[in-house]
Amino acid sequence: KIAIEPGQKITPMMEQFIEIKNANSDCLLFYRMGDFYELFFEDAVHAAQALGITLTKRGKHQGQDIPMCGVPIHAADGYLDRLIALGFKVAVCEQTEDPAEAKKRGSKSVVRREVVRLVTPGTLTEDSLLDAASSNYLTAIARVKTGEQEEALYGLSWLELSTGEFGVQQVDHLRLNAELARLDPREIILSDNILQESDIRALNEEVRGALSPVPRAFFDGSTAADRLKDYFKVSTLDGFGQFERVELMAASAVLAYVEKTQLGARPPLSPPVREISARTVSIDAATRTNLELIRTLSGEKRGSLLSTIDKTLTGGGSRLLAARLASPLVELGEIIARQDSVSWFLEQTGLREDLSDAIKIAPDMPRSLSRLSLGRGGPRDLLAIRGGFASSITLLAQLGQSVEPEQLPAELLRSYEALSALPQNLGTLLGAALDDEVPLLARDGGFVRSGYDPSLDELRSLRDESRRVIASLQADYADLTGIKSIKVKHNNVLGYFVEVTANNADKLMSVPLNETFIHRQTLANAVRFTTTELADLEAKIASAAGKALAIEQDIFAHLEREVLAASDMIKNASHALAVLDVSIALALLAEEQNYCRPVIDESLAFHVEGGRHPVVEQALMSDGADAFVANDCNLSPQNGETNGKIWLMTGPNMAGKSTFLRQNALIAILAQMGSFVPASNAHIGLIDRLFSRVGAADDLARGRSTFMVEMVETAAILNQAGERSLVILDEIGRGTATFDGLSIAWATIENLHDVNKSRSLFATHYHELTVLHEKLPRLVNATVKVKEWKGDVVFLHEIIPGAADRSYGIQVAKLAGLPPAVVGRAKAVLEHLEEGDRQSNAKTMIDDLPLFHATAHVMSNEEEEPDELRVALQDVNPDDLSPRQAHEMLYQLKGML
Ligand code: ADP
Repeated sequence: KIAIEPGQKITPMMEQFIEIKNANSDCLLFYRMGDFYELFFEDAVHAAQALGITLTKRGKHQGQDIPMCGVPIHAADGYLDRLIALGFKVAVCEQTEDPAEAKKRGSKSVVRREVVRLVTPGTLTEDSLLDAASSNYLTAIARVKTGEQEEALYGLSWLELSTGEFGVQQVDHLRLNAELARLDPREIILSDNILQESDIRALNEEVRGALSPVPRAFFDGSTAADRLKDYFKVSTLDGFGQFERVELMAASAVLAYVEKTQLGARPPLSPPVREISARTVSIDAATRTNLELIRTLSGEKRGSLLSTIDKTLTGGGSRLLAARLASPLVELGEIIARQDSVSWFLEQTGLREDLSDAIKIAPDMPRSLSRLSLGRGGPRDLLAIRGGFASSITLLAQLGQSVEPEQLPAELLRSYEALSALPQNLGTLLGAALDDEVPLLARDGGFVRSGYDPSLDELRSLRDESRRVIASLQADYADLTGIKSIKVKHNNVLGYFVEVTANNADKLMSVPLNETFIHRQTLANAVRFTTTELADLEAKIASAAGKALAIEQDIFAHLEREVLAASDMIKNASHALAVLDVSIALALLAEEQNYCRPVIDESLAFHVEGGRHPVVEQALMSDGADAFVANDCNLSPQNGETNGKIWLMTGPNMAGKSTFLRQNALIAILAQMGSFVPASNAHIGLIDRLFSRVGAADDLARGRSTFMVEMVETAAILNQAGERSLVILDEIGRGTATFDGLSIAWATIENLHDVNKSRSLFATHYHELTVLHEKLPRLVNATVKVKEWKGDVVFLHEIIPGAADRSYGIQVAKLAGLPPAVVGRAKAVLEHLEEGDRQSNAKTMIDDLPLFHATAHVMSNEEEEPDELRVALQDVNPDDLSPRQAHEMLYQLKGML
């Protein structure tokens, strides 16, 4: 807060600024001054740095210069965008009265200003600030601790302000991270008193970046239900379902925050939908990141699974696809319903194309709807709704022509019904009232179609008629004065005027013309006059235009009301459009990429035949490289076994182990989101949790050692995975001494087999582990086939039963371009080591390999007799030697070898 000392001299404007700033201390304050938003004090310093704009100063406060910077109004959106992207919140403070009014109150009084809007990352509605293809969630985390119970329960509530989607969910501390990762919120509010709790501190990095603490009062449990009732204007919440207290707390915090940032405006929201954790596959944050579902490890969308499978045509479709990918289902019925839609469209090739043409041009209705509801909408938003209605009619007609609605699969039938439910008279009304080309802002007018409102048409023709008369006046005045070059012109200062060149001016200023032409202005080369006729016409135009604009505003308000009254139906129809878009897109994907419909049931099967990695496959295809090698994976219980298998994968680096592990996880996710999968056949028993421990790309950046991160993640898996889980583990136990690593991997496998009983894929470098299959009946050894050819290794990427014979590390190193001398030396070392291994005599090994001697010395604690060479070297001080002496010394040392 900016302090004002008692008795401190301060300008009225600064006083106003400080008051507003202190009321919004967590935001940067955009303070409107003329054509700029100005920022002062710390805000200016932060903004100047973030935006790369000049930091200056204006005036002094408590003897110090006040830092200042500013952004022009017309470019403000771009700057806002960047600040929001960096996680800042911005309070936009406008002048809320005409400066002339302020003057009337006294020469010193300042223009009244108010914050009209708080812009925060989670509450955006502008198209220019939003990504059409992704949701922009605001999320709240509430927490309760009941009695002596040690572990807290959390309530999550999320809201997409630009579409009105509103959800709640209760989670335990174990699922908190995974559910937040699923939502991928832009902004997360939580009570400032839980910010330091260990569960919150343990959230993954990206999630933590979105945290935004708010006062505890937002989460008050005693008023939560009332706030929800009040918002939705209902007397009981029972109609929305049953909610846990902690869910209500989170939901009410979200609403309170919306009301705060929208300054009391209440956008229409869908009633809160309670998400049951058990309904969706739990995938923790690390797994989502590592599997590159929505973004690649480097943070890009390109190369992610989503971008690879996204063939949707609209923003709404793209958002729905992303949401489905983030939340694969554990509900069989729903998955099969989605699959049925895809299968149906796979058959209907012609219809699919026709529908696509209509879907492609369907505007983003939900986002326009929410802008209208917040009073931030314009004629273009009405036009978008009209366009959405038109698309819906086309879609209904096309669907109706090719099938009886009852023959549609259930999900598509629901979409059909939602589209049919749109009040078409509203579409007709918008069609009749709006022009095809409209301005962005309602206050500019000129968007109502002529013929819609007779009084508006009359005023417009009056205006146009007057303009025509004015245009004809120029010829009249030329006749009257005999001056051919006389002009009738218009500018904002004088309005309409007559202009002649300086040497013709005298004529107009003398009898008799001076009766008609009244002098207004003399410029260097021209003199300007007005006439009563012109002034009258101008007044007529101004009043007609003013009246016309007022009528247009009324029409806008009326249309806006009508649209908002239908907002539920519009929202349902938009969802229906998105469902059609997604179903068609998935059918297209299945067809183009040759995906199959997986069989999903309640068993513990996991049998993929001819499986491929969707992303790698497409990348290889576009490179024109060799085709992707398809591989089977069968983790299903066999011969009366009650649980699934563990595949232990060995094989050289670069053979394709990671690719295989990941592809099976991705196939499971695709299958349970209701998509077809890249395989020739697949049978998957519902998976409820997906765990992975693969790669370590960004671990170091987090300041924890790779090994520590790996162990933390492995611990989480062993503590939580169950028989319905799918577990993917890549190279457990690296980053520590060989025997430690091997032992940890060994014990991990035993635990997975006997305790967790999860279907698992486990890739390792420790070939010693392959003997475990003799002891563990459901452990299967698998490896990747390689061929040796003239001393080089050729990767066939084919997964076969059995264990790898060797690791081919040196061959791979050679392929990577290690210098030939190093490769040759490594081969010699390897031969010795293998020899030594057979004799299990490390001492011999080291003695036989003099180069390793020094290392061995450092590593062992025993004091050995120092050798001659070492003693001699120790006595040398290179700085004391002349080049010649050095040369001689070198000979001498070499002689000691
Ligand atoms: P590993 O985990 O065994 O070290 P990777 O899975 O990283 O090996 O695979 C190495 C490279 O081989 C990948 O970049 C990929 O391009 C290629 N590859 C892997 N599996 C296949 C496959 N089934 N078909 C074709 N190329 C593959």
